[in-house]
Amino acid sequence: MENCLRTRRKDLALTTQAVVIGAGPTGLTAALALSASGVEVAIAAPPYDAARLATDRRTTALLPGSIELLKNLGVWETCHQHGAPLAGVRIVDDRGGLLRAPEVLFSAQEVGLACFGVNIPNAALNAALHAKVSTAERLHWVPTSAVVAVEPGDDRVAVSLAEGHCLKGALAVAADGRASLARRAAGIATRAWSYGQTAIATTFLHARAHAFITTELHRRAGPLTTVPLPGDSSSLVWVEEPSVAAHLAALDKAGFLAELATRLQGLLGALSDVGPVAAYPLSGLSASCLAQNRIALVGETAHVLPPIGAQGLNLGLRDAAMLAECVAAAHARGEDIGGRTTLKAYHGARAADVLSRTLSVDLLNRSLLDDFLPVQALRGLGLHLLANVTPVRRMLMRGGLEVPGRLPRLMRPAMPPQRAGRLPLSP
Ligand SMILES: Cc1cc2nc3c(=O)[nH]c(=O)nc-3n(C[C@H](O)[C@H](O)[C@H](O)COP(=O)(O)OP(=O)(O)OC[C@H]3O[C@@H](n4cnc5c(N)ncnc54)[C@H](O)[C@@H]3O)c2cc1C
Repeated sequence: MENCLRTRRKDLALTTQAVVIGAGPTGLTAALALSASGVEVAIAAPPYDAARLATDRRTTALLPGSIELLKNLGVWETCHQHGAPLAGVRIVDDRGGLLRAPEVLFSAQEVGLACFGVNIPNAALNAALHAKVSTAERLHWVPTSAVVAVEPGDDRVAVSLAEGHCLKGALAVAADGRASLARRAAGIATRAWSYGQTAIATTFLHARAHAFITTELHRRAGPLTTVPLPGDSSSLVWVEEPSVAAHLAALDKAGFLAELATRLQGLLGALSDVGPVAAYPLSGLSASCLAQNRIALVGETAHVLPPIGAQGLNLGLRDAAMLAECVAAAHARGEDIGGRTTLKAYHGARAADVLSRTLSVDLLNRSLLDDFLPVQALRGLGLHLLANVTPVRRMLMRGGLEVPGRLPRLMRPAMPPQRAGRLPLSP
């Protein structure tokens, strides 16, 4: 990386304006958004490892605001070609219960849009983020095996690295994931829970075209979702009980494809070329506040959701964009970018969105697992309404795309939103 602040001296203290801890997709986006807002940023994280990042088997369905953010940060132009637009979402009740609900198709065209978003492999997104970070102004990567301590003070927060160096800034951005050390240093409490489910993620080829439709099979053990990728390929997120998921992950490719074909019941025709299979135990986490003591939380340090409805990273990218906006405003006014006023503005701007997504995704996931007949009757009634009453379906689609509170400026389109007709794959 060109922008690495490399040093061999032990116990060196470096001062900057903001220190981002962790270089997952949310941390990198936060660093780019902050530097684009005129702030000097250091990223404290393990060095870029292209081979390790390529082992991330997941894809992310990016919603329109996230795509605008990546366009505005100059990231989209180097990764959009790996993505496929999502023109519709089909929900199929596959719980096999007494009250089987009708299939529902949410079509982007029905609400005047070309697509709901774009599905992109995490490996391609992360590579594009790293490429941009390596050339961005005001941005320095300080490679470390790990951040080992974070100590907030009156006017600075100190971030200590395993190699003995210390980075000091007015603000630390905690992007070090669900087990965040920086969140603990901020004194922010969390509520965490487990779902007793594991998600299997991989990609595969199929003989029948996906027609850019995502299909969610709502099953007793959790959703099984196929999400379009370019050509006749799709990504898969298949949620199962942990023991079943372990069995599936251990199958050879032919065995896995046979199991998948049984579940998909011909939906995508003959299946082939399954990629490496990765398993992700599912859990939830919610932080009691989003910023405190010069430390702001973004992404999974603040909220962990099950992969239903493609919300997790989209929520994290909204954190990153809004934090940059609050920091830029404080910076422009000559105020302390890590001070109470800035952190309060960030928390206030993000709390409603984070809470409402966490609750709704949790409720949706639990409603699949619950065998209580009235719960299933309510689910079925909801799906009946969505299948048969167009205004209700349109209202839900518009609601799903809307963000409670203010959408960060970096997520707003420079041009009016694209209308139905052309799929937005160009940068
Ligand atoms: C199967 C699956 C499918 C998903 N699909 C979608 C989807 O379609 N749409 C969507 O929006 N979301 C989706 N998600 C959620 C999404 O993948 C996550 O929200 C996202 O990856 C979280 O990114 P992050 O940067 O917040 O955290 P992470 O990716 O966990 O990054 C944290 C980083 O911090 C580093 N770190 C940790 N500790 C330290 C330390 N002490 N010092 C320095 N660095 C440290 C780690 O090495 C890591 O690089 C999915 C999740 C799963 C499991």
